[in-house]
Amino acid sequence: MSGLFDLTGRVALVTGGNGGIGLGMAKAIHGAGASVMIAGRNTEKNAAAVAALGERAASVVADVNDAASVAAMVKATTDRFGGLDILVINAGMNIRKPVQELAFDEWRQVIATNLDSAFACAKAAYPALKASGRGKVITIGSMMSIFAAGFAPAYAASKGGIVQFTKALATGWAADNIQANAVLPGWIDTDLTRRARQDVAGLNEKVVARTPAGRWGVPDDLGGIAVFLASSASDFVTGTAIPVDGGYAAMI
Ligand code: NDP
Repeated sequence: MSGLFDLTGRVALVTGGNGGIGLGMAKAIHGAGASVMIAGRNTEKNAAAVAALGERAASVVADVNDAASVAAMVKATTDRFGGLDILVINAGMNIRKPVQELAFDEWRQVIATNLDSAFACAKAAYPALKASGRGKVITIGSMMSIFAAGFAPAYAASKGGIVQFTKALATGWAADNIQANAVLPGWIDTDLTRRARQDVAGLNEKVVARTPAGRWGVPDDLGGIAVFLASSASDFVTGTAIPVDGGYAAMI
């Protein structure tokens, strides 16, 4: 790949890169020439993702809810590949219960995994991103950064928070030539949403009917935006939240 979208010589770290949307983004970033560190808790999924990527890929076992683990994850990346240019803050989860049924610990677990961890990862990566001189942060919001659902109050709060946190990174780190942008996926077919289809009656049909493209997204649908936001093509794009949703957010 040449020119604007070429990632040759750059190093990416993708949290939750061992499956779903994270792996879709990791594959595209790797395909554009970057070295990629996959971070996740599950060693088998980590190994399979590295095997799928091939050369210039490695993995690290990391729990984004553990500050020491996050620090070790960043160190493993810089030790292995000599720096860090692209941080993809993707790891996330959901607990689908309305407010009246959601325990406080469950609320805290979702906020911690989806939002507190973004702070921890960004903070730990900052010295390396600054040293890069061309740092990129990509966060993952959701349609629930814009809309909400009664069955996912903590998730909606965390994903709304991700967008505002991303704007704070963008404005705070612009002087270091670090761009930070959020991607807002529509409904994408992954382990996360396979569980949602079991939990929420009629979800599959509702998503297809509500999405102008008339289908669920697949992880590879996130590859193009990942390369754009990781590359020089987006050097004057920062603080945005970009839907990749088959038109979901455009339709009333
Ligand atoms: P998956 O369940 O397929 O992937 C979640 C990933 O996060 C896994 O790789 C998992 O790795 C990792 N992860 C979860 N908790 C932790 C943790 N504590 N520490 C480290 N890694 C962790 O879901 P998706 O690919 O669908 O989700 C990826 C992101 O996209 C999430 O932020 C989600 O909210 C967001 N999103 C998804 C949408 C969809 O329709 N699928 C829509 C909008 C946003 P491991 O198994 O090894 O722990």
